[in-house]
Amino acid sequence: MFGKTILVKFALLSKTLRVVDCMQDIKELQNKLAKPSKVVITTHDKPDADALGSSLGMANYLLKLGHEVTVITPSDYPAFLHWMKGNDKVKIFTEEDPNDCRQWIEEAALIFCLDFSVLSRINELGEMVRAASGYKVNVDHHLDPEDFADFRYWSTQAAATCELCYQLIVDLGHNNLIDKDIAECLYAGIMTDTGGFRHPNTTKNVHEVVAKLIEKGADNSRVAKNIYDRNSLNRLRFIGYALSENMQVLPEYRVAYFAITEEELARYESKTGDTEGLVNYALSIEGVTLAGLFKEADGKVKISLRSIGDFPANELAAKYFNGGGHKNAAGGRVEKSLSETFEYFKSILPEYANQLEDEYKKL
Ligand code: 5GP
Ligand code: MN
Repeated sequence: MFGKTILVKFALLSKTLRVVDCMQDIKELQNKLAKPSKVVITTHDKPDADALGSSLGMANYLLKLGHEVTVITPSDYPAFLHWMKGNDKVKIFTEEDPNDCRQWIEEAALIFCLDFSVLSRINELGEMVRAASGYKVNVDHHLDPEDFADFRYWSTQAAATCELCYQLIVDLGHNNLIDKDIAECLYAGIMTDTGGFRHPNTTKNVHEVVAKLIEKGADNSRVAKNIYDRNSLNRLRFIGYALSENMQVLPEYRVAYFAITEEELARYESKTGDTEGLVNYALSIEGVTLAGLFKEADGKVKISLRSIGDFPANELAAKYFNGGGHKNAAGGRVEKSLSETFEYFKSILPEYANQLEDEYKKL
């Protein structure tokens, strides 16, 4: 009841109708942020533009409020994100040297958990955050959030965590603090989580928010160039190889997938992020409803799934690949060999055959 009142109030204040499914009294967070404190911001494993953009966008904002802020990521991330302001100060957690990050987490008065909904998504950092005494803030747009945060600013209706971060800063009364650097970090996450403003999650609110970010100085063309169009030659050659030699199509199921070995990645000197977006080529084939990328890494296989229409890639990922995500973009991992993984994948497709066909017919 109380939550609903607040939601309506904010909708009226901001004059745009947006949805935050679960929100406590914003005053509680305002009070926590009232005096300069130690703040840790963390985000999911293998951060993408939404993860790093929301983290550095919030970091730059909280620095302006006078806080001492550290961004900690559970793993490294692609070089095409390194242009974001504050990137040089990000701490990347390593198992070999966990103590610096542990100390920050233990001492933080506030811990922002951005773009993930379950603590297992931040690997070893998850249990450190759970045990920490700091006030935990979760800003996220994934399904089924775990109940670990003191303040949850969450909506599965949001296209990106960066969209929610923009709204959160506005709700905290600090629209005026959003500068070009913050705007560009947030713009990046919205651009990529909407697939360059193409996915069904590209709502009116998304366009309104990015318009505001451009108004704040975000150079949208520069952000797009930095993220999409600064490929290494090796990466492009690898994509060419994967498309011509590796991709398999199963027309009877309307499925296409890649199964990439560590040897193939090494052959093209693949770097973190080099396979990002590859799965979308498979989804772009006429007639394909579900696309997969199976990638060997450290004796496990990482799975990326993309779907069209209402096919629930996240349900398939949760049921069979220890994962989850969004309806049209999901992932997971299994401890099987690469060949076992795609045979396993093929064995579950009959269960989804009708749905895969129906989604194509709806086009
Ligand atoms: P990607 O294919 O880009 O790695 O991931 C797409 C989406 O799937 C992510 O935004 C995230 O929501 C979800 N996802 C990817 N890997 C995992 C995983 O291991 N566990 C869960 N729960 N979600 C994942
Ligand atoms: Mn996201």
